[in-house]
Amino acid sequence: MAGRLEGRVAVITGGASGIGRATAARFAAEGARVVIADLSEARAQETLSEVRAAGSEALFVKTDTSVLAENEALADAAIAAFGTVDILVAAAGVSNARYISGEVVEGPADRTAGFIINKPVEYWEKVLAVNLTGVMYTDRAIARRMVDLGIKGSIINISSAASKVPLPGAADYCVSKAGVWMLTKVLAVELAGHGIRVNAIGPGYIDTPMTAGASGDEARRRQMVSTMPLGRMGEAEDVANTALFLASDESSFFTGEILFPDGGMFTG
Ligand code: NAP
Repeated sequence: MAGRLEGRVAVITGGASGIGRATAARFAAEGARVVIADLSEARAQETLSEVRAAGSEALFVKTDTSVLAENEALADAAIAAFGTVDILVAAAGVSNARYISGEVVEGPADRTAGFIINKPVEYWEKVLAVNLTGVMYTDRAIARRMVDLGIKGSIINISSAASKVPLPGAADYCVSKAGVWMLTKVLAVELAGHGIRVNAIGPGYIDTPMTAGASGDEARRRQMVSTMPLGRMGEAEDVANTALFLASDESSFFTGEILFPDGGMFTG
């Protein structure tokens, strides 16, 4: 039986790790060829291996998504390699300005240091540059090629449950993710006439390198899990499966929507 993404090409930013990596593997298993865009080629190697093990083709394009020209080069490289881009998953992101994936960076002992009245402005600027402006740059670069080539594609932006929940000390992250949600809705309306759908995903707490610092602490892990009635951390695959639905024709009447794989966080 043909895969649900047979013959399609997907660009996945943040594809070297966590949610992006799981999405690349899931899409490859459904027949998509995959372009991985991330900062580190070394860490992208494992994703490339997973995609090839699933019997598909993968390309790595070193990209800092917060730099406009690098998104343009990414889009050109994808088209040059595969002739099309049908799907974009914009998953590159940082949890805070000092975040380095896979490394446990201890936050300041005093959590009020992250409050707006205390936070260094450069920290705010860094998070917004990657999580919001970077997503806009990638969406723009890929959407322009889709329009020019007449591709009826699907764009999926990774927002967060934090787009709805105010997290003290993380205003930059929350605002960036709320911005991604609104960016998604505006783009959905702007691109609908071209047959391009734009949706977002707002995950709850997911076990990835991004949450490893917090979830490694038993008390903090319990606190995170307590916000989700299903009683567990999400897996990157939970988000990958949501992205697969939004990428596939099964979601053909969805645009401007956000789906929350969050273990029931917003039921109450
Ligand atoms: P992750 O494992 O840290 O993956 C994020 C990837 O993005 C890393 O490979 C990182 O590269 C890359 N990246 C960071 N800045 C970049 C830039 N400027 N250009 C290109 N790539 C960049 O984290 P994750 O949990 O999979 O997060 C993926 C997305 O889901 C993020 O947008 C995150 O905010 C969102 N999200 C995560 C959760 C969660 O609980 N994990 C919940 C809600 C939303 P480096 O490691 O080299 O910096």
